[in-house]
Amino acid sequence: MKTVRLRAGRERSLLRRHPWVFQGSVDKGGGDTGETVRVQAADGSFLAWAAYSPRSMIRLRAWSFDEAEHIDAAFMARRVRAAVALRQRLAPASDGVRLVHAEADGLPGFIADRYADVLSVQCLSAGAERWKSALIDALVEVTGVARVYERSDSGVRELEGLAARTGWQRGEGLTQVVIREHDWQLALDVAEGHKTGFYLDQRDNRHGFAQWVRRLGCARVLNCYCYTGGFSVAALAGGATQVTSVDSSGPALQRARDNLERNGFASAAADFADADVNAFMREQLKAGASYDAIVLDPPKFAPTAAHADRAARAYKDINRLALKLLAPGGLLFTFSCSGGVGAELFHKIVAGAGIDAGVNAAIVQRLEAAPDHPTTIEFPEGEYLKGLALIKAMT
Ligand code: SAH
Repeated sequence: MKTVRLRAGRERSLLRRHPWVFQGSVDKGGGDTGETVRVQAADGSFLAWAAYSPRSMIRLRAWSFDEAEHIDAAFMARRVRAAVALRQRLAPASDGVRLVHAEADGLPGFIADRYADVLSVQCLSAGAERWKSALIDALVEVTGVARVYERSDSGVRELEGLAARTGWQRGEGLTQVVIREHDWQLALDVAEGHKTGFYLDQRDNRHGFAQWVRRLGCARVLNCYCYTGGFSVAALAGGATQVTSVDSSGPALQRARDNLERNGFASAAADFADADVNAFMREQLKAGASYDAIVLDPPKFAPTAAHADRAARAYKDINRLALKLLAPGGLLFTFSCSGGVGAELFHKIVAGAGIDAGVNAAIVQRLEAAPDHPTTIEFPEGEYLKGLALIKAMT
């Protein structure tokens, strides 16, 4: 068994069960890519069993803090079973579910989503890559789902020195899947969609949006960064009479169109704009348009905390435009999925946008990822999606 010794004083985060050790904390020792090593403090005492990643800044990711544990296929299967059992208890209102959420389920770097009768998995760390087969075998056994697609094509893999890999890992067939979410049906493609195919993390916020639209009687809705139209379907399900969906991706807009049709919404109630959201909102303002509800769910503007400044300006700008475009009493659902922008900073950015827009607004709800994307108490870095539901003042 290979050993990695940490520098004096660097054992603290593992003692607090934080699963990562950065390069600079390692004194000596190592292993092969993804190999399990025994991590010990400078005094030789046991800290964790961890996967070694020779190329990554995050040199070690802990599998277990229990010295008696054996890190083997049976261990991976136990973690997978526990993760799936939690989802069964959570019983999300969908057959699209995040079954394994990496660090939060004790499996650093491993993501598994179920989309009806297909599993879509992602290995983002050397350790997850090393144990991929065992993890997939366990998932197939515990879920009874036979088809597994791999989407290990996230840029994060480069940081681990791993090449991208996509394709069927088990079974084969069409990569388009239709999931049932709440009362509606949404199509996605596990080969072509973002992440593992879809944004399951927004499931409960889409439902919440439908309820707010109904409660406030919002008629005209603008869905910015609509992707495949989830919030647009929600708006129409909530009783909106006109929904404009904006995205800069043509294929995403085509899927959004199909998803609205699939749910029986008349095409007269929907417009689509292939445009940059910022430019689109500026034009709408010039044209004197206004909306009763707006969704702003942009891509990650700040991949890390180092990008937070520039990202803050971009978030502020779109929120300012949206607050101006809203009718008095209108609803704004605004999000950031940047790990580098925390909930408190996001709140400040939106407050700044309100001041610049000369608009007052009340926060009526704080929004976050659905519970099948949990964060553990030891690992705050896992928290990425945050949002606010605001109602613009009447005057
Ligand atoms: N709200 C969606 C997910 C949004 S993902 C859901 O619930 O499923 C972010 C989307 O923003 C992507 O579809 C991407 O194509 C789009 N996008 C990125 N930059 C953009 C820009 N500048 N203008 C318009 N759309 C953009």
